[in-house]
Amino acid sequence: MNERIFMSRADISDAEEDAVRRAIRSGWVAPLGPEVDAFEAEVAQRVGVKGALALSSGTAALHLALLHLGARPGTAVVVSSMTFAASANAIAYTGAEPVFVDSQEQDGNVDPELLFEAIDTLRGEGTEVVAAMTVDLLGRCCNYTAIEAGLAERGVPLLEDAAESLGASHAGRPAGAFGQAAALSFNGNKIMTTSGGGMLLSNDEQLLDRARYLSTQARQPVPWYEHTEIGYNYRLSNVLAALGRAQLGRLDEMIHRRRVIRRQYMNAIASLDLRFLGTADADGSDVENCWLTAIILGDDIPHTPDEVIGRMDKANIEARHLWKPMHLQPVFRNARSFSTGTSERLYRRGITLPSGSELPDSATTRVIEVLNILSR
Ligand SMILES: *Cc1c(COP(=O)(O)O)cnc(C)c1O
Repeated sequence: MNERIFMSRADISDAEEDAVRRAIRSGWVAPLGPEVDAFEAEVAQRVGVKGALALSSGTAALHLALLHLGARPGTAVVVSSMTFAASANAIAYTGAEPVFVDSQEQDGNVDPELLFEAIDTLRGEGTEVVAAMTVDLLGRCCNYTAIEAGLAERGVPLLEDAAESLGASHAGRPAGAFGQAAALSFNGNKIMTTSGGGMLLSNDEQLLDRARYLSTQARQPVPWYEHTEIGYNYRLSNVLAALGRAQLGRLDEMIHRRRVIRRQYMNAIASLDLRFLGTADADGSDVENCWLTAIILGDDIPHTPDEVIGRMDKANIEARHLWKPMHLQPVFRNARSFSTGTSERLYRRGITLPSGSELPDSATTRVIEVLNILSR
């Protein structure tokens, strides 16, 4: 049997192994330490924001940002429906109501006009909208030119869920630099990893200070343990930050490899009745990090994503469905949504392909062989 091809596996080299060993031998195994400080500074510099807070997950970063923006019971946060559950879960933790907004056709990112319509409608009904959370789907930034202008007009803060988009950019500005704050994820399958971890980015030092305080059990700055609020245990460990720094040093190389892989798929299956999600970028203002390459099957293809994913699995290849939109999730069945059917259609015809930077050409060749069943 061929070796299994994974969709997006951690790409770990000797550099990461050395970094983790160095961190352990330095004695800083306890959480926090010099690797965490350096990791924060390096990521902030890379993205071009004033500060960063290394956390145990991207979900934690979203949660803390939302708390600072005033998310609480009785308020609403508008959010892209086509996302991983973490985006919506972070809203639910605060007690605020997630309100889901549908996608634009081309890349599955939130439809800016519909986002504004949702905000205006909720406000018209007297609901306080404390934030708009945008999600840069599969490593492609949202249309922030439109979104920033519309949100500024309405005075609604933007929180960028950049968990999938580190290394991407819109109109020359890097993912993670939009809005009041942004969240990165370093989960094991993301563009770079700390095995598990995340980061909150912002130019607002007050926001970062508040999040830092909440992330370390809301301890008051006095010599004894004094607490006046409920806090969280959300910090990233020093050992994992060392792993992250080594990955950051290889980020461009890893993104480059993912781009090559996408190009291989595009060249090989250009004649099939399908399209690549995102990619067609008329004015060149968006640079994707190519985290995951997804195809949307055309109407003439008599196969469902389930069938294709099944065939892949038989060939020992992992492919998956696109995120199932949150407004279709049983857990959010009572949540409000502004939907047009676009994200549902993308979900019903979409497949994400193996995209990991550690995949050799022989792996993409195997994937392409299976995809060629679509031509018959
Ligand atoms: C992975 C992901 C998250 C959550 O990140 P974790 O580090 O796993 O908590 C949030 N939003 C999106 C869109 C993601 O893909």
